[in-house]
Amino acid sequence: MSGVLRIALTGGIGSGKSTVASKFQTLGVPVIDSDVIARSIVKPGEPALKAIVSAFGKDLLTDEGTLDRRRLRNIIFNDLSAKTRLENILHPLIYKEIDEQVSRIHYPYCLIVIPLLVETERTNHFDRILVVDIPEEIQLKRASNRDNDSLKLIEGIIKSQASREQRLKRADDIIDNNLEIEDLNKTIQTLHNKYLKLAEEHKTL
Ligand code: ATP
Repeated sequence: MSGVLRIALTGGIGSGKSTVASKFQTLGVPVIDSDVIARSIVKPGEPALKAIVSAFGKDLLTDEGTLDRRRLRNIIFNDLSAKTRLENILHPLIYKEIDEQVSRIHYPYCLIVIPLLVETERTNHFDRILVVDIPEEIQLKRASNRDNDSLKLIEGIIKSQASREQRLKRADDIIDNNLEIEDLNKTIQTLHNKYLKLAEEHKTL
């Protein structure tokens, strides 16, 4: 691993990962977004798209040659082996790109936003796990307000993700985001100071 301290930032849908990440970014902390990487590696011409088409067929391409995400989601929704096959294509490429981006960072530490970190059991790839935590009822309210989605849809997504307890079990640090934004700012400043200090120690390891 490079000398940069790697902090994985995770949490369930609507827990506040993006909100937290952008506050760290305001403090000057580099943030890597695994969702952005996941989208970029399936663009036309990228190896992941070719591998997906060989595994699942040309039907997954739109007329423009881009990935038909909805069709892919439908295929993997009820088929665990298809889901595993897809993950076996995507995850190594996502983690390779994360490593490349980390290697270009000149800052004591960085945040890598990975919504499904606990689900994919890749926690060892990072130096610390930071979990954004809120009670389910607030998660439901915030996510549905933000996306204008039904509570039922969000509830289904929450159920498909790791439980709050499973996530908290893996956490080195926890942000309780059942907070007013001003209190969240204070929590983030405290964690930022802690990470700068830990990064200093990490460098000498
Ligand atoms: P997703 O997993 O769906 O991408 P997320 O974990 O990135 O979600 P955010 O988009 O950051 O979550 O937050 C969800 C919603 O909750 C947003 O509308 C955001 O503005 C709001 N929110 C986040 N933190 C707070 C807070 N402390 N107080 C009030 N609202 C908040």
